[in-house]
Amino acid sequence: MRILVTGGAGFIGSWYVRTLLDGGYLGYEQAEVTVLDKLTYAGNRGNLPERHERLTFVQGDICDLPLLLDLLPGHDAVVHFAAESHVDRSIDDAAAFVTTNVVGTQQLMEACRRTGVRRVVHVSTDEVYGSIESGSWTEEWPLAPNSPYAASKAGSDLIARAYWHTHGLDVSITRCSNNYGPYQHPEKLIPLFVTNLLAGEPVPLYGDGSNIREWLHVSDHCAAIHLVLTKGRAGAVYNIGGGNERTNRQITDVLLQLCDAPPELVRLVADRKGHDLRYSLDDSKIRDELGYAPAVPFEEGLAATVAWYRENPQWWAPKDRTGVAG
Ligand code: NAD
Repeated sequence: MRILVTGGAGFIGSWYVRTLLDGGYLGYEQAEVTVLDKLTYAGNRGNLPERHERLTFVQGDICDLPLLLDLLPGHDAVVHFAAESHVDRSIDDAAAFVTTNVVGTQQLMEACRRTGVRRVVHVSTDEVYGSIESGSWTEEWPLAPNSPYAASKAGSDLIARAYWHTHGLDVSITRCSNNYGPYQHPEKLIPLFVTNLLAGEPVPLYGDGSNIREWLHVSDHCAAIHLVLTKGRAGAVYNIGGGNERTNRQITDVLLQLCDAPPELVRLVADRKGHDLRYSLDDSKIRDELGYAPAVPFEEGLAATVAWYRENPQWWAPKDRTGVAG
């Protein structure tokens, strides 16, 4: 079994690859893994073992069709994580989001089709559904993405689906809620707040902090992706949720406690443009069909995540902060 993982040097992709290499997925202990990653600002080669007998690392772009056509033959499956992933950056400049997320996904699906890859999982997000005041989205909910990031992910979902419908590509699509855990880039809410608070610096809370997100530990997301890879149906979409809905204010209060930081460090800042109020997934399909059940209790997972950032300042502290963080 040979699996190609795009974006495998990023936050979630690297967790998936490390777990594969550690033999963490039953029946895949001998799987050979190829990581294809452009190593943008968000990718970090150090998130993966420097050397491993079952790992091949290729620095490259999913938009590069000749590279994909060269690389893919011999692979049984592709798990597609690579993306531009930060909403705020997509508000500042959406071009790279359309290029990587839409065009890159199309090039990847095309290469999978041409080289006869037997199984593909396209990793997407709950943000494609927009915002929901009450209740939860099922997979049949219309797509109404609000940020350029979410719109580019919705576009990539539809491309993946079209390659299934038109060409019979065996691809499933996952839509997960917000992830947290170690190795997440400090631009995202939880690691930004943790690393700032550990360094004794203020944290910027958008608006009045009432926006609600549903949180899932990265290990549960990756386990669900692997379940979809091995048991999911072609052309099907699977929501992956955790049921842990929290306001940003609630998250901030827990992080203040876990980091032993004073509440004065919280600064309310002007709200994000077009900020979605609430995300909530109905994930009964993957639970009923594939037996998915998240394993990490939120409070435990969050405490372990804070402990990891506390113990690994060399991973996140920029040079001008080194020493402060340690
Ligand atoms: P990330 O930003 O940490 O990592 C993205 C990785 O993709 C990086 O290693 C980067 O170098 C690589 N990459 C970017 N452009 C590339 C290109 N053109 N070619 C090859 N590699 C490229 O992102 P993440 O948080 O790990 O998210 C991974 C996937 O999961 C994304 O598709 C994202 O939309 C999805 N997702 C993320 C979350 C979350 O909470 N982080 C939730 C649901 C879904």
